[in-house]
Amino acid sequence: MALALSPASAWAQVEADIVLVNGKIITMDAADSIAEAVAIRNGKIFAVGTKQSVMKYAGHSTRIIDMRNRTATPGLIDSHLHFASVDPVYSIDLSTVHGIEEVRRAVAERVARAKPGEWIQGQGWDEGKLVERRYIYAADLDRVAPHNPVWLEHTTGHYGVANSVALGLAHITADTKNPSAGTIDRDARGQPTGVLKEEAAMSLVTALMPAYSHDQMREGYLQTMAALNKEGITAIKDPGMAAENWAVYSELRDQHKLTVHLFALWRGGTSVAQTQEALKHILALPKPLSDKQAIDNDDLLISGGVKLFMDGSGGARTAWMTADWNKKSTEIDTGNRGYPLTDPEIYRQQVRLIHNAGIHVGTHAIGDRAIDWVVDTYAEVLKDKPTPGLRHSIIHANIPSDHAIETMAALEKKYDAGYPEAQAEFMYWIGDTYAGNFGPARCLRLMPFHTYLDRGIRWAGGSDYPVTPFAARLGIWASLARETLKGTYGKQPFGTAEAVDIHNALRSYTIWAAHQLFLEQRIGSIETGKDADIAIWDRDPYTIPTEQVRDMKCVMTLFQGSVVYRAPAK
Ligand SMILES: [Zn+2]
Repeated sequence: MALALSPASAWAQVEADIVLVNGKIITMDAADSIAEAVAIRNGKIFAVGTKQSVMKYAGHSTRIIDMRNRTATPGLIDSHLHFASVDPVYSIDLSTVHGIEEVRRAVAERVARAKPGEWIQGQGWDEGKLVERRYIYAADLDRVAPHNPVWLEHTTGHYGVANSVALGLAHITADTKNPSAGTIDRDARGQPTGVLKEEAAMSLVTALMPAYSHDQMREGYLQTMAALNKEGITAIKDPGMAAENWAVYSELRDQHKLTVHLFALWRGGTSVAQTQEALKHILALPKPLSDKQAIDNDDLLISGGVKLFMDGSGGARTAWMTADWNKKSTEIDTGNRGYPLTDPEIYRQQVRLIHNAGIHVGTHAIGDRAIDWVVDTYAEVLKDKPTPGLRHSIIHANIPSDHAIETMAALEKKYDAGYPEAQAEFMYWIGDTYAGNFGPARCLRLMPFHTYLDRGIRWAGGSDYPVTPFAARLGIWASLARETLKGTYGKQPFGTAEAVDIHNALRSYTIWAAHQLFLEQRIGSIETGKDADIAIWDRDPYTIPTEQVRDMKCVMTLFQGSVVYRAPAK
């Protein structure tokens, strides 16, 4: 055929499916290179470089996407997003309420549509955003829900409030003792206020709520994935799922409905027996692969390892600290240093069990004392059984001591483990509550990203959704700005010494996060051979002023070479 002899097709033996041109491509490769165009074939990045070098792969059937001077980044990655729970999809959204009257109105509205006895669930409140600047109590809800049990969970998920009907169903009275790792909040007369802190106390009520059906989960996951794609997000690490979640995830994968890479951790519980149970599931499934084999694998859905809890929350002042918590910034919450959620010795046995099985573990640790215990545990098991590459992580790692920072640096270097999975957005979204609780001195140590850079520590970014909204642009911005939502204790109570630049902030939501999903060979940068997971933005994060980073709008998202989101034309 004459065609085959033409010089053009002689070097363009292969045609791209899609070519992106006329924009700026932030590749996030090791040199942080900028490219002009990308060619995509079979869902993978086939070529990236100058317009000229890429356009030679454009043929008759190639779809040319004109970026019109916009900027592309790798699809963003959230290393800590509670995907398994569909609560946010079905509960009353309290994340933007300003006062308790507004909460009451929202509950009353649901009650009006509910049958007597039906549960009313809400989610996302934060006393730091309420004009009253106090918890919501049962007494606030009883008048509007006299015949329905109500549970309104705090945005951190570490506490919530039940109304009196719900407290009654749970048999919680003044005589009920605090469980070992939980708090039943009480008033001056010793009566329960309705506020319950940490799983051991919360579950007295939440265990009574009906479970979500298979269809509700499925629908919730589809909605959440679409919303993630709208924010340019194409991969997530789910910190804590159970068998029923995995069943729905697998179904969605088999039906080609996943539009994010989903790396999920199994809940490891607070006892050795629960961890053994989780390990049974994990050992029956393929392990994550970080090497070249991963490139040929499906790798859309990964059974990634185990999630454990060391301590509580910085919102509830239950995280395990070396010194007393503060209140209202300068007051001392005398005698309260929080507590471990898992018995520290049991925790150590759990980690040893998981590590010795060659499985990745991520541990929730917020307080300095908890973080010390976690990194020391990792160091101990790694010394006893050196297994590089398991990437054990410190989830949140809010206020690491100098010792913890030293240990993380050493573990990363020696064992490819000890990585902080941090959520800069805490400083913004729950920053006012945090600033009040940590107090002025400790605030300056919160999420010490600049120190991490100085020590060669890499970290992975995330949102902890629904604790904060999942838009990664907010976390990227917060890594630079360290500003709170309301400025209750000053606009930047966490200081600016630990701020980082946009290049490193973006790394923490792309290539460094990919590493914590064991997918750095496959996603996290725009490089030949990788999945074509790409987000196109209305502006260039590398050149806009910091305050604009949080307002960036995603105009198009590609996941494995398919357009999964496109902003409506204006
Ligand atoms: Zn979390």
